Amino acid sequence: MNKELEKLISLHDLDVMISDLANNDINKQEKKLGLSPDSAVKELRKMRAELASTIDRKHRDMYDRLAGHYGNAVVPVVNLRCSGCLTQLPTAFFASQNRNDQVETCPSCGRFIYWCD
Ligand SMILES: [Zn+2]
Repeated sequence: MNKELEKLISLHDLDVMISDLANNDINKQEKKLGLSPDSAVKELRKMRAELASTIDRKHRDMYDRLAGHYGNAVVPVVNLRCSGCLTQLPTAFFASQNRNDQVETCPSCGRFIYWCD
């Protein structure tokens, strides 16, 4: 897989983890279990910043814009559709022999897309 795409997916995973941990209910539950979600969030934010600094400026800006607008900036292709907006992708995408070899975006919503098969 394309390294840049891999990083964007990791960035997305970190954002999901951070927002889950920062979520009040989950945060309270974890504290009840004797865990320290706040320090985990701090740690994850640090990892996120480090990762983000290695991502191409252009992609990082796109990511932040998409995440701010949609809540998620990176989505898998499911049943030949962008799982973000459910638009059927043009056939040119399926003809490609090199899936995930480059950073692709959905022509409809602009989210970063990747193949999981
Ligand atoms: Zn889309």
